Amino acid sequence: MIGTYPVADIFFSLQGEGHFVGSPMVFVRLAGCSVRECFIRKDCDEAPWKMRERLTKEEIVERVRALHSTGIACITGGEPTDHDILPLICALRDAGMRVHLETSGVRSVAGYPLEWLTVSPKIIGAGPLVQRQGHVLKVVVHPEWGAQAWDYIKGLDACTDFFHRYLQPLTVDDEPVNLQQVIDMVLNRDGIAGHNGGGRWALSTQAHRNWGLK
Ligand code: SF4
Repeated sequence: MIGTYPVADIFFSLQGEGHFVGSPMVFVRLAGCSVRECFIRKDCDEAPWKMRERLTKEEIVERVRALHSTGIACITGGEPTDHDILPLICALRDAGMRVHLETSGVRSVAGYPLEWLTVSPKIIGAGPLVQRQGHVLKVVVHPEWGAQAWDYIKGLDACTDFFHRYLQPLTVDDEPVNLQQVIDMVLNRDGIAGHNGGGRWALSTQAHRNWGLK
């Protein structure tokens, strides 16, 4: 339906990942994801069929303001750039919200009026990444990458420009399955000398799951 967005959920919670851990915000979770090559697609808990309703940007703003009238709205997914999100971002800003976006970076959002942009690439190799600048680059480390992990991460490091860089373990059934691997990588004690680029990468987890929040 033209002018509406497929909404999976709109909820008020604490950010559990990345740079704003512990910050209250309203999450606008748009349904669906076209990133078929995503390396964690089989473990992803998002899916187009999770759409609960279609809402206009005005209806989304109304829901967001009812939950948290002057705070942060974080648009996430699914892959939110599958949809024409610029009008939604502008509507949220007009309503006084600070807008964060979380995307896998498969499309450019350059020039969008965002307060905070987190890019979490989900296709192996730097080639498919389109949005190469932002505030946070967050890489979910797949346990099967093993010693190859730094090769992939170094490739991203070389061709992107972000203020903050996080490595995050893969979460399956609410549990980070390779937390120790990622801790070792961040602490540079994984036996692969110098790959952390002098502490450029920090640990991120899905802390909200430990707090009993969604
Ligand atoms: S890109 Fe994100 S939303 Fe899409 S399948 Fe992968 S993890 Fe899920």
